[in-house]
Amino acid sequence: MKIHNFSAGPGILPAEVLQEAAQGVLNYQDTGLSLIEMSHRGPEFVDVMDQAIALVRDLLNLSNDYEVVFLQGGASLQFYMAPLNLLSSEGYAAYLDTGTWAANAIKEAKRVGRVEVIGSSKDKNYAYLPEFSVPSDADYLHYTSNNTIFGTQFQNIPDSPVPLVCDMSSDIFSKPIDASRFSMIYAGAQKNMGPAGTTLVIVKKDMLGKTGRNLPTMLDYQIHIEKESMFNTPPVFPIFVSMLTLKWLKNKGGLTWIGEVNRQKSDCFYSALDSSSLFTGTVEKSVRSWMNATFLLNDTRLEPTFEALLEERGISGLKGHRSVGGYRASMYNALPLESVQALVNAMRDFEQQHG
Ligand SMILES: *Cc1c(COP(=O)(O)O)cnc(C)c1O
Repeated sequence: MKIHNFSAGPGILPAEVLQEAAQGVLNYQDTGLSLIEMSHRGPEFVDVMDQAIALVRDLLNLSNDYEVVFLQGGASLQFYMAPLNLLSSEGYAAYLDTGTWAANAIKEAKRVGRVEVIGSSKDKNYAYLPEFSVPSDADYLHYTSNNTIFGTQFQNIPDSPVPLVCDMSSDIFSKPIDASRFSMIYAGAQKNMGPAGTTLVIVKKDMLGKTGRNLPTMLDYQIHIEKESMFNTPPVFPIFVSMLTLKWLKNKGGLTWIGEVNRQKSDCFYSALDSSSLFTGTVEKSVRSWMNATFLLNDTRLEPTFEALLEERGISGLKGHRSVGGYRASMYNALPLESVQALVNAMRDFEQQHG
């Protein structure tokens, strides 16, 4: 049976990418060696790394003002590493508190320096996005473009008089964006780009070297940039699979293509949700996420029956995060429209029986 994979993270990857990744692990390009058992400084892996970086630059149309590195430690390490590299000791950073990950970023930044939270939606369990105005004397504004757990997403890049730093872990490469509006973008690979184990960091050169801090080597962006993501042994497998996924995306038509596919998927899901009398979305409609749709079954007593139907139809990974409950349909890039249609059909059939 075909499984429809709505996992929130690590998330679905294209089947053809997994095939190619498997082949590369067994025998990389007929070298007789696995890609994961050869030197990361050899021509094979250096080529993988170069391609991965070139694809990131190409897909996001990055100018030479930006550096691109693949690091480890997840997006969670960037919560600390970004302020460590960017936040001056006299200054402060503005943060938006729009979900669990945003709140974690705030917590870590406070260990480094002064933080002003200029907007929060915590009062309503992060079911909306707050109004805010960005102070012009902050070192930067940090926000989370897509709130993976709660299911809200910024529909536009915020206007900001100060440099923008964005955690794009769960919606990077999901639609066309003007990357030149950002001074830094970071993303854990495992939602929309590849397997867990590497974090993409894109940073504008003019942001670096300004804090005067004596940084630990491993936490210094400039070291990783100088060493071309190979200061220490990079996570070769996650970078390889990320590269294959980015290549898949580019060959399919890049961000314009995927933006259209993701729009169709989200329209398909939310129009079914809105026409249902059994299910209700958990967030304000105007800020619904294309990537993670959160919803509840109004009558929780029906949950076991609905979940049995999901299992029967091969619909996997729909359980909501414990802080929201209910269900979450994660519709990352590699999830095909037909999987969303399968979910919508299951919801409609369920409504016929129980509505
Ligand atoms: C999953 C997620 C994180 C955490 O990523 P790790 O790589 O596990 O540290 C951070 N931010 C967002 C938006 C996420 O979705």
